[in-house]
Amino acid sequence: MAFFSQSAARAADFSHLQQASVEFRDATKRYGDNRVLNGINLRVNPGEVVAILGPSGSGKSTLIRLINQLEPLSEGEIYIDGKPTRGLSGRALRALRSRVGFVFQQFNLYAHLTALENVTLALTHVHGLKPQAATARALGLLAQVGLQDKAGELPAQLSGGQQQRVAIARALASEPQIILFDEPTSALDPEMIGEVLFVMKTLAHSGITMIVVTHEMQFAREIADRVVFIDGGEILEQAPPQQFFSAPAHPRAQRFLQKVL
Ligand code: ADP
Ligand code: MG
Repeated sequence: MAFFSQSAARAADFSHLQQASVEFRDATKRYGDNRVLNGINLRVNPGEVVAILGPSGSGKSTLIRLINQLEPLSEGEIYIDGKPTRGLSGRALRALRSRVGFVFQQFNLYAHLTALENVTLALTHVHGLKPQAATARALGLLAQVGLQDKAGELPAQLSGGQQQRVAIARALASEPQIILFDEPTSALDPEMIGEVLFVMKTLAHSGITMIVVTHEMQFAREIADRVVFIDGGEILEQAPPQQFFSAPAHPRAQRFLQKVL
């Protein structure tokens, strides 16, 4: 299937992006009395692609939201490139977030802004780029996700797959060293999933550090360097995908795979 033109695919070169490591140490997250993540220890190496799998409610979204502090950590620490990040605020938090891109299930585009403006907004407002430079970078990114001719459209004029590709372009605009995806294809009609996974594959091969919460088992199997299975707020198993999918060790992982495969 031609998701978008082959020339766009060739243009999709993200290899200039740098890479950072992420490390959770004894990380715990509570909501009131509810301990939703319990003593997480996880290291993601620079350039590694990790797929987070697990049943609904197991803590997957919370895990990645902690990394760029969409949620504050309760206990423990998260290091990015070896530097502790807990409790950052103000300028330091903004700097952290510009190094960590986030792509949401529901796209979260600004409805009243065009595709182009969605991508340039943070560049002009947070990163202080001049409008002309921001526009040039954003048009380049839109081309890389196959949307060069959609720059002037509002989100409502775009398909779900196109909106999610705009969201990926936006997440890449600040040239992050880590990109987090929270079920990026779960809100899409089936025929649009491929075009988004295609962009993500290109990105994975570019060398950026990538953590992807997904129910796309085929994607995890093909693209991830490592699969992390969580349930009940704990990491129950980590393995290369070939091993995880052919011979999961933990009984809960076995049950999970029986349901989803
Ligand atoms: P998953 O993404 O694996 O489906 P989540 O990380 O969204 O799981 O949720 C894990 C647990 O944390 C769930 O029990 C959920 O109800 C709870 N939870 C998530 N966000 C909040 C919140 N903002 N306030 C209270 N509880 C929450
Ligand atoms: Mg979730």
